[in-house]
Amino acid sequence: MADIASEFEKLLPEVEKPGRYSGGEWNTPDMSSPARGDMCFCFPDLYEIGMSNLGVQILYDIINRAEGFRAERCFAPSLDMAKKLREHDIPLLSIETKKPVKDFTVVGFSIGFELLYTNVLYMMDLAGITFRAADRKEEDAIVIAGGPCSVNPEPFAPFFDAIVCGEGEEADLELLRRVTEGRDKGLTRAQILNSISDIEGVYVPSLKREGYRVKKAVVRDFENAPYISKPLVPTVESVHDRATLELYRGCASGCRFCQAGFWYRPIREMSAKRCAELAKDMLKSTGFGELSLCSLSTSDYTGLEALEDELSPYCRERGITMALPSLRISSFKPDMAKDSRKSSLTFAPEAGTQRLRDVINKNVSEAEIDKISVAFEAGYDSIKLYFMMGLPTETDEDIAGIAEICRRLKRLYMEKRNKRGLNISVSCAVFIPKPCTPFQWEEQISFEEMKRRQFYLRGLLREIKGVSFSWHGAETSVLEAALARGDGRLSYVIEDAYRAGACFDGWSEYFKWDVWQAAFEGRGLTMQMFTRARDLDEKLPWDFIDVGVDKKYLAKERELAYRGVTTRNCREGCNGCGALKMGRCTIL
Ligand code: SF4
Repeated sequence: MADIASEFEKLLPEVEKPGRYSGGEWNTPDMSSPARGDMCFCFPDLYEIGMSNLGVQILYDIINRAEGFRAERCFAPSLDMAKKLREHDIPLLSIETKKPVKDFTVVGFSIGFELLYTNVLYMMDLAGITFRAADRKEEDAIVIAGGPCSVNPEPFAPFFDAIVCGEGEEADLELLRRVTEGRDKGLTRAQILNSISDIEGVYVPSLKREGYRVKKAVVRDFENAPYISKPLVPTVESVHDRATLELYRGCASGCRFCQAGFWYRPIREMSAKRCAELAKDMLKSTGFGELSLCSLSTSDYTGLEALEDELSPYCRERGITMALPSLRISSFKPDMAKDSRKSSLTFAPEAGTQRLRDVINKNVSEAEIDKISVAFEAGYDSIKLYFMMGLPTETDEDIAGIAEICRRLKRLYMEKRNKRGLNISVSCAVFIPKPCTPFQWEEQISFEEMKRRQFYLRGLLREIKGVSFSWHGAETSVLEAALARGDGRLSYVIEDAYRAGACFDGWSEYFKWDVWQAAFEGRGLTMQMFTRARDLDEKLPWDFIDVGVDKKYLAKERELAYRGVTTRNCREGCNGCGALKMGRCTIL
């Protein structure tokens, strides 16, 4: 191992950003004593993206605190490093001890986005891990996956021995313990997989039969759940170079397109007291100059004022910026961002008309959009607006409404500031009907229609001075939808696409549309077979996962959407979604 490590070290001066692979970050746990069992967390994207992933850091911390166990990390190497590894016949190594990834007791991939599926194979390939679980040998590492894509694991399930569906805080360590014990006792691979199959949230694809069910893993006591007190400080500037505090899980808003909002129910808040303690601990132990208070809708957090009262003076005295990444227009107050050095605010009305916002249950009224003018009074000259295109029932009138909002904000800015000059940046994603949402049965609009609507909006926005427009590629949006709603057949498509050169699909400079089209065709499939509308009584590939929220509730929400009827925010009362059977909603 020492030889591989020193061979590897010699490559570092020859690649771009060697700090991605060198390790030795501040707060790295002591790895000198031997471990009974170890796990390598593999993040299928570059170091600077992966180091910003809160989930990986939490799980890494939990395992490293457990007596006798160890967690290390590995990120997808950039293409220049991959080339060097292949040239020198060096397998993919962990960052901390430079141990070959394939030699860990458990290898765990965190998959947060469908366009990372080929990167999983890229990492397995470089590591020397056999792609398909069914082809692995007795002594091979147990390879698992987790992360947000576990909501529908079927397209990638054949690549894994097990998948943790839901939250990994309790499941991952228990799984590592049982695999380690199984190895110590000399159990066969099949016996080990059997032994982990009753851990809440664990899906073992090789055991799936008719009637097989998996209950999503949920951290019931979020207040006392383990959290990172000493985050790793990246050696290469990461996407979010800051301490991140998760205020709560789940979301009370019930936006009908939002997968995370339903998947992470029940809603569990951490007290402001504990949040403040954790934030101070993280800031002390890292020296970060920015603290991010994050969750699906941060300004909805019950303890926000108390937390700000506690943290604002602390941060101000130390020159630390406090960032609130996701604001709800209706609850925005100018002093919420008083510690932010940023000159731009971000809001997400999601749709251009009240009618369509009611359909998607985005409870933002026209009057509330006008409230953005409070930000102009507070001195903001720049604003980012997020919208979605292709939502169910959308017409050109709704798209024109986006341009109308921009015009109105320009007028309001003029009134408040008595000058022109407001910069508006409009970003428009394409709607993807994701599993575990009331829109999981919807079809995605066709590729041609996406292009038409994008050009239509671009034309409208060009007429307004000071408005910039960016949009998500139609190609990647169709692929993302197909992969999100797919079944086991797609594992062959993913493998074919990878072998034909698809990799880093989320990066526009690397995305190969023709390779993906050929991969679908080669298996007698089309993307439209997966983006089509589904009947309400059709069996969906992800139905075997009990997510807490009832399918009937999702169907009812869909029906309300078509009638344009909104559902109240859960903070005003429980709407009976079914998530309570998985634990308490602490906001009730
Ligand atoms: S509907 Fe009720 S159970 Fe479901 S998330 Fe809202 S408060 Fe919790």
